[in-house]
Amino acid sequence: MGSSNCKVYNATGTTGYKPKGSGSWIKKYRSVTESDASVCVNVECRNKINICGAHLVLDPEDCDNYNRTFIAPFCKACNHYSKTGVIEIDEDTWVVMVNSYYMVKVKNIM
Ligand SMILES: [Zn+2]
Repeated sequence: MGSSNCKVYNATGTTGYKPKGSGSWIKKYRSVTESDASVCVNVECRNKINICGAHLVLDPEDCDNYNRTFIAPFCKACNHYSKTGVIEIDEDTWVVMVNSYYMVKVKNIM
């Protein structure tokens, strides 16, 4: 019984967004999920340095819908705005919805 991957994309135009209050998106992710979030969740990366909270969407058509934007741990290289193509993450990855700070597995918002 294995899990499969889920296709996500970097959200566009979110570079300037900051979480309410102080801190970074990765701090927000860690506090909501109560996890270390120390590994990039890109299945082809799994980098352990420069981890940040990436703004992601499931489909580029949804980029305008900020309600569907969520946070997951990516390394700086994977979180770069020039990375416009599909990135696969494990479907059991916990993600945090940006608007509500609701924590959900990515497969459950597909
Ligand atoms: Zn990465």
